[in-house]
Amino acid sequence: MMVMKRTTCRVCIGQNLHGVLSLGSTPPANAFLRPDQLQLLEQSFPLELQLCRDCGFVQLADVVSPELLFRNYVYVSSTSPAFVSHFETFSETMIGRLSLPGGALVVDIGSNDGILLRPFKNRGRRVLGIDPAIKIAEMATSNGIETKPVFFSPTVAGEIVRDHGTAHLVTATSVFPHVDDLDEIVEGVKILLAPDGVFVIEAYYLRDLIEKNLFDTVYHEHLSYFTVHTLCALFKRLGMEVFDIERTDTHGGSLRVFVQKRGGSRPPHTAAIDQFFAEEETCGLSQEATFIHFGQRIGENKRQLLQLLGELKSAGKKIVGYGAPAKATTLLSYFGIGKDTIDYVVDDSSWKQGLFMPGTHLPVVGPEHLAVDHPDYILILAWNFAEPIMKKLVQHERFIIPVPRPLIIENIVDQDLYSIIQSLGKEAQLLSGKTVVITGGSGFIGSYMVATVDMLNKYFLPESCRVVSIDNHIVGKKNNLLREISSPAITFLEHNVCTPFTVEGSVDYIINAAGVASPIYYKKYPIETIEGTIFGLKNTLELARVKQAKSVLYFSSSEIYGDPDPNVIPTPETYKGNVSSIGPRSCYDESKRLGETLAMSYHQVHHTPIKIVRPFNVYGPGMSSKDYRVIPTFLSQGMEGKALTVHDKGNQTRTFCYVTDAIVGFLKVLLFGADGEVYNIGNDNDEINMKVLADTVAEVVFDNKIAVNLVSYPDNYPQDEPRRRCPDLTKAKKSLGYSAKVDLKVGLKRSYRWFKNSAALS
Ligand SMILES: [Zn+2]
Repeated sequence: MMVMKRTTCRVCIGQNLHGVLSLGSTPPANAFLRPDQLQLLEQSFPLELQLCRDCGFVQLADVVSPELLFRNYVYVSSTSPAFVSHFETFSETMIGRLSLPGGALVVDIGSNDGILLRPFKNRGRRVLGIDPAIKIAEMATSNGIETKPVFFSPTVAGEIVRDHGTAHLVTATSVFPHVDDLDEIVEGVKILLAPDGVFVIEAYYLRDLIEKNLFDTVYHEHLSYFTVHTLCALFKRLGMEVFDIERTDTHGGSLRVFVQKRGGSRPPHTAAIDQFFAEEETCGLSQEATFIHFGQRIGENKRQLLQLLGELKSAGKKIVGYGAPAKATTLLSYFGIGKDTIDYVVDDSSWKQGLFMPGTHLPVVGPEHLAVDHPDYILILAWNFAEPIMKKLVQHERFIIPVPRPLIIENIVDQDLYSIIQSLGKEAQLLSGKTVVITGGSGFIGSYMVATVDMLNKYFLPESCRVVSIDNHIVGKKNNLLREISSPAITFLEHNVCTPFTVEGSVDYIINAAGVASPIYYKKYPIETIEGTIFGLKNTLELARVKQAKSVLYFSSSEIYGDPDPNVIPTPETYKGNVSSIGPRSCYDESKRLGETLAMSYHQVHHTPIKIVRPFNVYGPGMSSKDYRVIPTFLSQGMEGKALTVHDKGNQTRTFCYVTDAIVGFLKVLLFGADGEVYNIGNDNDEINMKVLADTVAEVVFDNKIAVNLVSYPDNYPQDEPRRRCPDLTKAKKSLGYSAKVDLKVGLKRSYRWFKNSAALS
């Protein structure tokens, strides 16, 4: 029998199963075909989520034979460095948290090549693996992790106790939801566990599946879709108890559950468990309506993706797929995407190359094909890894991310915006249905802010976020530095913020990004610089007061620290600065300082929910090569074939923050910063002097074909430059979870690519 249909619920044994979401009939997701198998009849099985009306558990009732799915399983976990380090941490945490004594026995069910057990062994614990995949079990044993090549059962548990004694820890981190007969597993674990032993399981979380649209993680191997509620019910029925639970990022969102025998010595963490129960109730995880709505969302996703792919194909575009994980089989089969749309699927794992995808029979090839083939678009099937995949495929700019709504990535700016949105994660949902006013919305930072909201509106937010961008356009372009934005949710007002202004309707958030940060400009127009900063801010704060805005972000500057004392580098927010009130840069520094005072005064007098950021040298696509900031200057000099010019000896040091990191930091401050507080935002990783920066640009961007020259300061440049500047980011890291991720060399290459492309267009 290849498939068996259950009529009872795995958790409560009730007979009240009800189909809530059908994904059609598909072959097993990992049943890749050899060329000689293509002509044979391929077996397909129904893929349908069933909800138990008695206990609310969601499951597949069609059980494909585990012999068929797992006996010849070839995936080897240790090939993924991320998993190796995940389990290093796991073993360290478990040993500490569960006080596992030296010599304690750890048994892993579904142990694969021993990836989880190896770090336990290295830390002096006895280990035993259980895995039915014969070849992998043999390999693990010969590599020093003894592994029984069997399906786990009470009989197997009895044998282990006889040969090795009872276990202090039993783990099942990627197997529990794959097993049809959960009673058998749990009964076996009860035999195997020492009286104070702990059973730890990991299972993907139904809540993440629905909230993140992970419908393509539904395939025949995944029989169970747990919630905290259903897991607790299952263990209770079988004489065990859940005593703690946490969420992890594994597989897009999982639960890690700690279980002991009923009446065990560990006190249950009742508050945490109750909190999960309450949230699951609110999310309606056991309601049929939730699944009907989920099905509609997937249906709409499918319709939009097919339409987009259809349009690209009729325009003669060549599209290929990237990534052939099991979920790709569900996605391609359910959406009906096959050979007439994509030419082949690229996958890095060599065992899949040369084979054909189940169902669609698309050929799987190695990544070297992309270099030869230059497809127009790459459809990212492993879409939960879209960001690292795009970063890896640096030679390609155009991608399609299929889920949760089809998103086209046409260039480096789209990739940046996607990266910002991924870093914000669920936090970005706070902008849904809100109104944001941005002054200086057409400048460098403002353009990224507006474009980020535009992408959020199109692909991620349930309700559009309205944006009113206010800019006098003396520096930026009329609309947006990065691209022309056309959206009913986004309005561009041409207005000088030095004169008062208002905005129709309610205003939730206000971002004050107006102002000119170019040294050349402020040396030439010091009075306008002061007026722009102070009057512009005053008018913005008035708008916030009248509209009762939820949060106001004021862009100050790291320049307010002046030339810091070497003892306070990296510089924390508490440093009061070393600034001249009459020097050539003072019109800028001092007006930013007064701006902070004005903002804090509004906070004191009117309770305006003000947050202040001090950015440290933000750079990236969209910066003008004409404003004399160092990175765009180097890039445009090099692009014109000229030597890179470094002022004086080039001893001054700076740190540089790529714009995606900075925008994430700014938005975190806006959404989660404390009122009346100041935050440094920048990158504290590589403090670099200007000579070394020029050498780095020459090397990574121009392959050392461009020279670097030391020159004296030009006359139009303010000369009291700070010697060193580097942020202390402790506050933003601790209170907002901020961190800079983009390495300087990567950021320079990305910036240059944009410069080159935009020069080609203009
Ligand atoms: Zn049930």
